[in-house]
Amino acid sequence: LLSLKGITKRFGALTAVNGVDLDVCPGEIVVIIGPSGSGKSTLLRSVNFLEEIEEGTITFEGNEIGYVKSKHGRRHLDAPAKICELRSEIGMVFQHFNLFPHMTVLGNVMEGPLTVQKKSPEAAREIALDMLAKVGLSDKRDVYPATLSGGQKQRVAIARALAMRPKLMLFDEPTSALDPELIGEVFDTIRSLGKEGMTMIIVTHQMGFAKEMADRVIFMEKGSFVAQGTPEDFFSNQMEHERIQSFLNRIM
Ligand code: ATP
Ligand code: MG
Repeated sequence: LLSLKGITKRFGALTAVNGVDLDVCPGEIVVIIGPSGSGKSTLLRSVNFLEEIEEGTITFEGNEIGYVKSKHGRRHLDAPAKICELRSEIGMVFQHFNLFPHMTVLGNVMEGPLTVQKKSPEAAREIALDMLAKVGLSDKRDVYPATLSGGQKQRVAIARALAMRPKLMLFDEPTSALDPELIGEVFDTIRSLGKEGMTMIIVTHQMGFAKEMADRVIFMEKGSFVAQGTPEDFFSNQMEHERIQSFLNRIM
């Protein structure tokens, strides 16, 4: 479904993501772990074109996407309208929910279908109501985000991303801003997406969740993928890398 080749993103002299290759199959759940500053967020943001990469290609459903060459052979991000369209195929959920505070819950979820996909208000409303039901928040449709708990806000953010009918979902530490007792409801929502066959790339520090959900776990450090394996490989003390062990020991 998604194929990344040689993704490199620099901030000045700092190489945040350094030549990352990744292939994700339809229905696969990939979990990326790694220390702070290793480039996990930058990588996800690059896949969603929130960062413009210096090198590498992003291929989605067999087509290279997101970048075009100008007359002079210079590469740059595709037109904003095109990028918006691509973002509707690749949904992203952030650590901080980024809901629109001046819109109701329903308004937040309808926004993408209405403005990006140009659906009719009726159609957008129908999709939004479906997605709110999916995340268990139908009863909150008319309230404003400020009145919701963190877990509920995050579930609205997930519903908002799903309303665009994405084929791939990216989650960047979706529970790390939440109180411990609210983490479960967000994971339940992500888990049910997994059961429906959604393809997902999830960055998380919650190793229990990684172990349960992942088809594949990737350890990222200093902008590169250092190791990959099944959850069994990672969490049964069989990884050879000493740095991975010490990371896991610190975090678990
Ligand atoms: P964390 O686990 O703390 O979220 P991360 O793995 O997501 O960390 P990134 O946020 O991707 O790490 O950051 C990778 C590196 O890039 C860091 O050194 C960070 O300081 C740097 N960086 C990220 N965004 C920018 C930016 N907009 N400008 C300059 N440097 C940046
Ligand atoms: Mg991050």
